[in-house]
Amino acid sequence: MTSFTDLKLDPKVLKAIDAAGYTTPTPIQLGAIPPALEGRDVLGIAQTGTGKTAGFTLPMITMLSKGRARARMPRSLVLAPTRELAAQVAENFDTYAKGSRLTKALLIGGVSFKEQDQLIDRGVDVLIATPGRLIDHFERGKLLLTGVQIMVVDEADRMLDMGFIPDIERIFEMTPFTRQTLFFSATMAPEIERITNKFLSNPERIEVARQNSTSEAIEQILIEHTPRRRDMAAKDKREILRAVIERDGSALRNAIIFCNRKTEVDVVAKSLRKHGYDAEPIHGDLDQSQRTRTLDGFRDGTLRFLVASDVAARGLDIPNVSHVFNFDVPSHAEDYVHRIGRTGRAGKTGIAYTLSTPSDAKYLEAIQHLVGTEIPRGESPWIAPAPKAERDQIEEDAPKRASSRSRSRKKDKPEAAAEPVQDAQDAQADVATTEASVAAPRDNRRDRDSRGEEDRGSRRGGRSRQDNGPKVVGLGDHVPGFIEMSFEERRAEG
Ligand code: AMP
Repeated sequence: MTSFTDLKLDPKVLKAIDAAGYTTPTPIQLGAIPPALEGRDVLGIAQTGTGKTAGFTLPMITMLSKGRARARMPRSLVLAPTRELAAQVAENFDTYAKGSRLTKALLIGGVSFKEQDQLIDRGVDVLIATPGRLIDHFERGKLLLTGVQIMVVDEADRMLDMGFIPDIERIFEMTPFTRQTLFFSATMAPEIERITNKFLSNPERIEVARQNSTSEAIEQILIEHTPRRRDMAAKDKREILRAVIERDGSALRNAIIFCNRKTEVDVVAKSLRKHGYDAEPIHGDLDQSQRTRTLDGFRDGTLRFLVASDVAARGLDIPNVSHVFNFDVPSHAEDYVHRIGRTGRAGKTGIAYTLSTPSDAKYLEAIQHLVGTEIPRGESPWIAPAPKAERDQIEEDAPKRASSRSRSRKKDKPEAAAEPVQDAQDAQADVATTEASVAAPRDNRRDRDSRGEEDRGSRRGGRSRQDNGPKVVGLGDHVPGFIEMSFEERRAEG
């Protein structure tokens, strides 16, 4: 078996690897390190979690150990799509470059230019940056890329998703033609293929896992749910999410919950917090210090639930994540692979739940096609209250709720203001069901009034046919109250 010592790495790098506790190189490291050390271009098709960061950092440190940086002319450049990923590469660099005298600068948004300028002015061996911030520095005339000998593009497919490809092309053009390029992507979309054909020269191609494969260490479970009404899908999914969290109990050490939109990320995080769970959101609209604080909390185990957008959480190396939830089915099938790959890392097992509604059918099909298997279906631990039982509850509570609501609205103002979207959705749902209850047939009401409390309770899980009179063909059991009423009754109800 090949060991790190067979790889012609700098002795100081070997010492740092030893200190990090690594005994054997991972397949991407075995494939990428030797050609990189020979000065060849490398095209690595690998997902995060495969050890690809060390795959490019270790040879870089070895090659850069000879020579010195000049002011404003970095000797190497690593491009990462997000601030978090760039920061993660910088951390890896610190670990592996221990003992060497190489300098680095991290250029990411949300941090002042002044400090970054000072570092660049002094001269750095390794510049780690997000594309936007790098171009900003370049355009301010503070940076020259003509001294770049090694350029790394990490997570290229994510760059593509984020619209960074024109920036990447521009940056390639700003670096010398003679540079060495180490290029990594989890998938090879046609646009990525085009870029690599254009800018890489006879690269060594290394593919470590089947493209778009999912790890066997991850148990995948699909929870299908038909919402009570279409506009209640998100509310229902929040109920299901909490029910699964409760059901899995202590087996759920921590979880990343992915949503498709930033607003949904905020809503889910706030909703979880409102229900007593320790949750924080992370997405691109939050300021950098908050994002860093949240991630640090999740990494060190003080935060249990991280509610995230794809951009913010993609590629992050967070060990020990027991659960991943796809609160929304991702609209890009590859995102499914990336999301669930946050768990089941480093020899541990993990569970990935996906909550889907009928409107996700198209996306779900694309995912199953991509991963080449059907996602096993699991039971939902949450049962929606039957529409009628819910109506009864609302009607019974109506006078109390009306007054307590107006009181609590005033009293709870800051909390309501802090949760505008959910509040709006929940309120909308409440109003809609109240309307349905107002329109409920008289007979049903009399009927209900004559029934005991016990009976009502036992019907919460399902709707009894006999309550509703003859079923309206085509609407199944979900017959809105007003349809069941005669025209006269509706008029009488006003
Ligand atoms: P990456 O794919 O670069 O995000 O790396 C995933 C994780 O694997 C990181 O936590 C690394 O510290 C770890 N790692 C990288 N190389 C090795 C190795 N040869 N042996 C054990 N762990 C490693």
